[in-house]
Amino acid sequence: MKAVDANVIIHGRGLNEDLITVPGVMEELKSRKASTSVHSFQIETYTASDESFEKVNEKAEEINSEASKVDQKLLALALDKNVELITDDKELQNLGLHLDAKVSGFLDPVTTEKMSWKLVCPSCGANNCNCGVSPVRKLDQRSSV
Ligand SMILES: [Zn+2]
Repeated sequence: MKAVDANVIIHGRGLNEDLITVPGVMEELKSRKASTSVHSFQIETYTASDESFEKVNEKAEEINSEASKVDQKLLALALDKNVELITDDKELQNLGLHLDAKVSGFLDPVTTEKMSWKLVCPSCGANNCNCGVSPVRKLDQRSSV
């Protein structure tokens, strides 16, 4: 059993696995009019536990990840079920690595670097100031996996 994101479902013809995902991913597929390809798979939909989602969300905020809420729920589900997560989304892969999840790439190999970011002011470079400019993300730490 493997947890998959929308992209893997769309391009994943021939994946000979039991696939699971979260309801938000199925919504994404509907909005992308990709429902025809969904029928060729056996995909079970589960809701991630609040406990795992909170853990993922906390880590996302800590490292300033840009992984979407849906992606965070998918990662939480993979942790709940203790299964591999297949995604080519680098933000999601990175967040998964921070939580010691089993992460694989699908069309591309999984990232080999673990990164975190801090938010800084683009005007003065401080992380807490009164410039009134929206902060931007700046690479804070990078380590190989
Ligand atoms: Zn500033």
